[in-house]
Amino acid sequence: MAVTSSSMLLLRNFSTVGRVAQSVRVTSRIFFSTGELIRVLPYTRSKRLICSTRAAHNEEAAAKAAASVADTGAPTIFDKIIAKEIPSDIVYEDENVLAFRDINPQAPVHVLVIPKLRDGLTSLGKAEPRHIEVLGQLLHASKIVAEKEGILDGFRVVINNGVEACQSVYHLHLHVLGGRQMKWPPG
Ligand code: 5GP
Repeated sequence: MAVTSSSMLLLRNFSTVGRVAQSVRVTSRIFFSTGELIRVLPYTRSKRLICSTRAAHNEEAAAKAAASVADTGAPTIFDKIIAKEIPSDIVYEDENVLAFRDINPQAPVHVLVIPKLRDGLTSLGKAEPRHIEVLGQLLHASKIVAEKEGILDGFRVVINNGVEACQSVYHLHLHVLGGRQMKWPPG
């Protein structure tokens, strides 16, 4: 699966739908669903929608500020969280993955799932065949988080990729969101 530098991956899960995972690439946005392919927005329309609120503008500003170190491989705040040099509210941890609550939650449940070893994965757009195993581990860990948080019947997994998708921390991370009715299209 090809990935461009400014894509966003959304994963929505509904327990009533049991079809096999699918993925589709359209322009620079990638949508996955463990249940069904929900909808693919034309890039120009979704770009307007993604950063259209005040909160989103803050996120956009953070993303632009982070852009200067985006691909340098410089350490991020997540390295300190992994090393437990700064505190985080850990929800799940195993040998390869760490999941902790987002400091600025966008839903009652908002957990970040990250690889402990970044190994070049500053963003999903940097994924290479050697990362396939850890990418699967991250998705599986997201499901475990959803289960632990009691949102398995309806949750969303988001990966912001690149400045245009409002990525602000360049250490691959999956946002696991739930505990409220999600809207579509995402904003
Ligand atoms: P992005 O915007 O790159 O997709 O997501 C980065 C996320 O990291 C944001 O939702 C932001 O709130 C979160 N974040 C940034 N710094 C910290 C931190 O120090 N601790 C925690 N728990 N989350 C953080």
